Amino acid sequence: MTDKLAIDGGKPVRQQPFHPWPVFDQSEEKALLDVLRSGKWGMLDGTRVTEFEKQFANFHDAQYGICVPNGTLALQLALIALGVGPGDEVITTPYTFIATASSILQTGACPVFVDIQPGSHNIDPDLIESAITPLTRAIVPVHLSGRPADMDGILAVAKKHNLFVLEDACQAWGSEWRGKKVGAIGNAGAFSFQSSKNITAGEGGIVITNDEALSERCWSIHNVGRIRAGAWYQHEVLGWNLRLPEWEGAILQVQLARLPRQLLRREESVNYLTRLIQAEIPGLTPPLADDRITAHSHHLLILNFQPAAFGDHSRNEFVDAMSAEGITPISKGYTPLHKAPAIRRALGEPLNARQSLPVAEHAGQASLWLNQNVFLGTHEDMESVIEAAKKIQRTWD
Ligand SMILES: *Cc1c(COP(=O)(O)O)cnc(C)c1O
Repeated sequence: MTDKLAIDGGKPVRQQPFHPWPVFDQSEEKALLDVLRSGKWGMLDGTRVTEFEKQFANFHDAQYGICVPNGTLALQLALIALGVGPGDEVITTPYTFIATASSILQTGACPVFVDIQPGSHNIDPDLIESAITPLTRAIVPVHLSGRPADMDGILAVAKKHNLFVLEDACQAWGSEWRGKKVGAIGNAGAFSFQSSKNITAGEGGIVITNDEALSERCWSIHNVGRIRAGAWYQHEVLGWNLRLPEWEGAILQVQLARLPRQLLRREESVNYLTRLIQAEIPGLTPPLADDRITAHSHHLLILNFQPAAFGDHSRNEFVDAMSAEGITPISKGYTPLHKAPAIRRALGEPLNARQSLPVAEHAGQASLWLNQNVFLGTHEDMESVIEAAKKIQRTWD
């Protein structure tokens, strides 16, 4: 890294890596060894996964939690348990990870994309109603970057049209909407514990809900169609084996215990960095403030890049220049899903079909993402981001 040249050919602003990820210590080591030595490696034998399900649900203001191998399967399991399937339409956002839409498609249902709000990157509740048809069954808002979607607006439309709300909270561990943790504000929520996420066991996911019947259906489908009071070879519904091994439950318990401190650290860092950006970097805009958001996981900080403030250089050139300056946890983020060949083909649409989702398309072209691990660092780390951006701006202006 040290022999890499910065944009002016000289020394990069930053030579040190940012805060490492994942974070772990002897607690994870001990938890893993305990599981190993217990000989209880599966969740049907041990207690770790079941304990974690309760702890995570409880932390997220929900009564029930069902762990599954990843966030994608958490979304799919919840949709199937809600009864979503072939012939149904599900409203969601195009500015998200592919799993939000692919999980809908894998149930046989059809995702219908509704544009996002500028400044929030989340689905615009005012645009949902016009996308509803007699086939619509559910809305899947995404709390992108950890910023809660406008749940008041979404729940109001859902109630009016009798639709389910499944929260894609795969980036929103600990996030709150008006004092309530996200995930079970709607009918159910899905979370991911994949290796880049703020709590991780390498992989993993969970569905949470306050609806007991729904939680039983999830439990049954994730355990080869068994029912809790039934016999071992009694299979009531068609399911899968979506159970987690105890190693993951054990690690996730430790990671969850560490989360509240990390949440505060990230909040403080993002507030500091946001103030610096607003004061010192014209042409980089942080998301809009919203006081209904009472906690934010800050899985990402999404900034809007305006070329005019950087001598008309492009967002992509800026990302390359920042990387050359040593700000490596920066990226361009998503291409909206209505442009993704996999989704277009699955929908049977021509690859070049025109669709009007202008805000999502703008976000795809103008966004800069900074990753959560940056925000576990120090004020000096935040200042190095500013220093690099200023140096690039000076060079290009
Ligand atoms: C990570 C993520 C998922 C999928 O989670 P996996 O555990 O990787 O399957 C779904 N939606 C969003 C918004 C995500 O960020």
